[in-house]
Amino acid sequence: LIQLTDVHKSFGAFEVLRGISFDVMKGEVVCIIGPSGSGKSTLIRCINALVPIDAGSIQVEGQEVHDPKLDKLALRRKVGMVFQQYNLFPHRTALQNVMMAPVHVLRQDRDEVEQRAHALLKKVRLSGKENAYPGELSGGQQQRVAIARALAMRPDVMLFDEVTAALDPETVKEVLITIRELVEEGMTCMLVTHEMGFAREIADQVYFTDRGVIVEHGAPDEFFSAPKDERTQAFLSQIL
Ligand code: ATP
Ligand code: MG
Repeated sequence: LIQLTDVHKSFGAFEVLRGISFDVMKGEVVCIIGPSGSGKSTLIRCINALVPIDAGSIQVEGQEVHDPKLDKLALRRKVGMVFQQYNLFPHRTALQNVMMAPVHVLRQDRDEVEQRAHALLKKVRLSGKENAYPGELSGGQQQRVAIARALAMRPDVMLFDEVTAALDPETVKEVLITIRELVEEGMTCMLVTHEMGFAREIADQVYFTDRGVIVEHGAPDEFFSAPKDERTQAFLSQIL
């Protein structure tokens, strides 16, 4: 579904991504872990064409993401993205936030979108909060609205960039439960996360990045119980 081949990206003289290659198959769950500044967010943003790359190739469903002729809107329909900062519209209710893109960007039928938005809010366990404004919701609830909003575009893959990093420990769990349910339904997911227990539980593949390269990857049991690279070992020993 996603294919990265030797992706390079610099900001000025600083090379953030130094030759990243990997594939994500349909239905697969890939977790990316690594120290701060290692390029994880940049990598995720490149997949969604939010950040241009300097060299290499990124394909989503066989289409080159960085082809200037690519329809970015079509790409972003296919690739849902949720950030650490939920970026909800503060003056719109939860329901309106979920409905906004399908109605205003995709010009879909408002009644149908509204029905689907209700169903999506139910799915992320927010029935009853349809008319709440973001300011009236907890961080975890807002993040679940953001997930519902991404799902409203019916994406083929979901990218999550440290979506629980800004949350209180109690609300982290409810967001992780929502993500786990998506995974159980077969959604292809790529997650940048510091939740090692969660990564171990849901990932098919774990990738460890450091200074713009993939240092090590593997199935989670093997990766967490017997990391081979020194940098992975050092990172895991700090975090666990
Ligand atoms: P964290 O775990 O802290 O989120 P990260 O692995 O996601 O880190 P990135 O956000 O991808 O790291 O950043 C990698 C490096 O690129 C950092 O040194 C950062 O300062 C730099 N960087 C990121 N975005 C930009 C930008 N738009 N302009 C210049 N430098 C940037
Ligand atoms: Mg980041």
